[in-house]
Amino acid sequence: MKIDFHAHVWNTQLDQVDEFTGRLEALGIDKAVVLPIAPYMTNESIAELVKRGEGRIVGFSSVVPFAQTTGIPREDPIDTLGHAIGTLGLSGLKLHPLIQGFSLNDPGLVPVVSAAGDLGVPVLFHTGPANGRAGRLANGHLDLMDDLAIMCPNTVLVAGHASPMDNAVYLARKHPNVYLETSISWARWGRLIPGLVRATVEEAGPDKVLYGTDFSLGRDQRVADTDAVFTESGLSDEHLAMVYGGNAQRLLGL
Ligand SMILES: [Zn+2]
Repeated sequence: MKIDFHAHVWNTQLDQVDEFTGRLEALGIDKAVVLPIAPYMTNESIAELVKRGEGRIVGFSSVVPFAQTTGIPREDPIDTLGHAIGTLGLSGLKLHPLIQGFSLNDPGLVPVVSAAGDLGVPVLFHTGPANGRAGRLANGHLDLMDDLAIMCPNTVLVAGHASPMDNAVYLARKHPNVYLETSISWARWGRLIPGLVRATVEEAGPDKVLYGTDFSLGRDQRVADTDAVFTESGLSDEHLAMVYGGNAQRLLGL
């Protein structure tokens, strides 16, 4: 079972579900976790993708994490999350510190992140740099997840793009509730530094790493680049199976 824990179907691609699942099949991916970013995408649109995805799409929700930052009335993030998980049947929460404008260790995140834990679903955060000009790089630094993991010990936190060149190994070893997702950064650094991927998996714990590619339509190369570093990593078949899908199956109850 191969599960891509980080994929996107953007708003302009919502009517291309068959094309998306067709590419997954061609690329050898059994299921993909599709991640929206609020308020730019709706949880309803993701639920619709799941329905039409013939079992290949696992849908996450997203919320604007702070109820009142501007004085403008907004939906309560905990209500929105409860609806997304309980009624729409989505499987997790995605939050993006750079695009949504918060710091990864902001105590204001605690209510909604803890609510995800109460609902039994993981929260994936973008970590590290991002293409584009949105947000402060400092807000997404992987080290800040150390604080959040302590503040929300009963929620599974997934560090998206968790860079093996930052403190990913130490974070995963320190916190039972922190997992590392591999998209972009592992392909980039793994290509440059032989041995890095295997060492990172073995040191972080093979049960703490989730294969992800940041795939979307037209981005086949991201899958190829990620697969290349894992195929050549020298990891045991057992560890590779955990990273490719076993850990995700356990976290998502699949
Ligand atoms: Zn992404």
